[in-house]
Amino acid sequence: MRSEEYSGVLPRALPLGVLGGTFDPIHFGHLRLAEELAQQLALSEVRFVPSGKPWHRGALGATPVQRLEMVSRAIAGNPRFVLDEREVRKNSAGYTVETLSELRQEMGGEQSLCLLLGADAFLGLPTWHHWRELFGLAHLAVAQRPGFSLLQEGMDGLLREEIKQRMSADPADLQGLPAGRVMTCPITPLAISATTIRAGIGAGRSPRYLLPESVLDYIQAQNLYR
Ligand code: ATP
Repeated sequence: MRSEEYSGVLPRALPLGVLGGTFDPIHFGHLRLAEELAQQLALSEVRFVPSGKPWHRGALGATPVQRLEMVSRAIAGNPRFVLDEREVRKNSAGYTVETLSELRQEMGGEQSLCLLLGADAFLGLPTWHHWRELFGLAHLAVAQRPGFSLLQEGMDGLLREEIKQRMSADPADLQGLPAGRVMTCPITPLAISATTIRAGIGAGRSPRYLLPESVLDYIQAQNLYR
């Protein structure tokens, strides 16, 4: 007899990870974040959700369809990584709170959802559309990123309050509840950013070894960021 039958407790589905971003282009900083958080939090999968028309950024180097293609190439061959095209297909601002609401509807109220963020994105949370509603929809798993500290003096007061109430040190909390906890996660520090990759290509330098070869081939074939 299986132990869950014996105890009468239904087995819980593993948490689902969601990683949003502009991915312009996707690089090894994104991929290590997804891989290491998937391992630390026992995620069933990581959904990569490229943004549509980001409301907080100016003109992008690559088109949304090119960014989708780069993510698709980068995650090919990893069965735990899944491309979610919904924000690009909407072709609107594509707020994270809306994406998570949709996923919550699709997955049901019991499913644990984990929004994966780098420390820089987390510190910028108070500028996001209806950001405090995010905690009702998902857990937030915050990965360390070189150059950004969560112990900043100037951190937004409301964000500091949320952290104080919601901070968790045990991945099991994120598996046992559908949403509402915040966890910081150490990952291999990689000081890679899409901004420096774009600027480097623009200045004639190769971004080889900062991103997958298949993405680099596409950037060259499409003559991106020049
Ligand atoms: P840009 O330089 O164009 O702003 P980016 O490299 O920060 O881009 P995004 O697509 O904006 O990449 O990031 C998506 C998510 O991945 C964010 O939550 C961000 O914090 C995280 N992230 C990106 N690069 C890293 C990295 N090197 N280490 C940890 N987290 C990262």
